[in-house]
Amino acid sequence: MSVISMNIITKFHLFEKKEEKEFQPSKEVEKEILRFKKRWEIELDPHFTTKEIEVISEGLEYYNTKFIKSRIDKIIRKDLGGVHGRWKDTPKHKWMTLNPRIFNFKRRWKDEDTDIPYALFTIVHEIAHCVDHIEKVSFSKKWQAISGWKKCDINDKIPDGYKRYIEKRPGRKIAGHKKSSWIYKEGSDFCRKYTSRNPREDFADCLAFVILGFPEKLKGEGGKKKLGIIKDLLKKVD
Ligand SMILES: [Zn+2]
Repeated sequence: MSVISMNIITKFHLFEKKEEKEFQPSKEVEKEILRFKKRWEIELDPHFTTKEIEVISEGLEYYNTKFIKSRIDKIIRKDLGGVHGRWKDTPKHKWMTLNPRIFNFKRRWKDEDTDIPYALFTIVHEIAHCVDHIEKVSFSKKWQAISGWKKCDINDKIPDGYKRYIEKRPGRKIAGHKKSSWIYKEGSDFCRKYTSRNPREDFADCLAFVILGFPEKLKGEGGKKKLGIIKDLLKKVD
């Protein structure tokens, strides 16, 4: 390489200025974002398409407008790799992030009389996290006792009779450590494998499956107890 290095361009500021400019959605999207904001008091990422906004609205419609209104600050559209959605709950931020890939999934949740696209399930599941942070269901002893949920450091040995969820799917680094810091009683029933990650996921999946019309996903004695708690909660929320 030559010791004389020369920049090809000198007026960097011209490009930088352009990048600073905010993303401008289409007029159609802009209109939908305004409508959405008026209805739910939720800010939407301008990168969503009208079709995607439609699915998000559909997911929100499963919940009581009065309950969910202004409970979510904003919904972000971001590629999270193998992770489909995320709920961030801090005293300052109530943020939902949705991976745009979910809108293209062919996969659906189906039984004889219900057929739910995967994206809709993800949205209802993420809102369930929001409900949980308000109602503190999965934080309660009553909920945690059903599957014997206990905290267990990822470096500690699991006591006899307990199990730990370990993420084996690729592209899920963003969701945190492969090993869960929670353990559950061996033989506990869960809606699906991922549900056994921690009490938060346990609740979010249970609520989502019940709301979407798959209460049979809550299997066994434990499932029956969880269904009871959810039914009480839904009565209360209504
Ligand atoms: Zn979740």
